[in-house]
Amino acid sequence: MNPVGNEIAVAVEARAQGRCEYCRMHQALQGATFHVEHIQPRSRGGSSELHNLAWCCPSCNLHKSDRVEAPDPDTGRTVPLFNPRTQNWREHFYWDRFRVMARTPMGRATLQTLDLNHPRRLLVRRAEARFSLFPPE
Ligand SMILES: [Zn+2]
Repeated sequence: MNPVGNEIAVAVEARAQGRCEYCRMHQALQGATFHVEHIQPRSRGGSSELHNLAWCCPSCNLHKSDRVEAPDPDTGRTVPLFNPRTQNWREHFYWDRFRVMARTPMGRATLQTLDLNHPRRLLVRRAEARFSLFPPE
């Protein structure tokens, strides 16, 4: 159950064109409805307005939880997680066939925290490719 109204959820989904704004998975082949995610968690004072919301698959939502930062695995330094409202996905990530690769410390921290290359995710991307849903853009 999303803690935001249905109209807002519809707007967030439409803005994201049905894709998770972190891993870019399309909802079309998923059994579950994606979630409206609070980028800045409500527990940290984040609002339920569009500028703080992202369309998010259950796996990314579960892994992100109420985090807003995480260690860069290369340096150990804590850095902010990717924010789909204020950052451009392609500036922090790119595709290497079915794998997400990081370009930046923020990209590396987000990739690791959200487990963006879990074997199940790679299988989903292969399936998406068969339906012309992968790669995303
Ligand atoms: Zn996702």
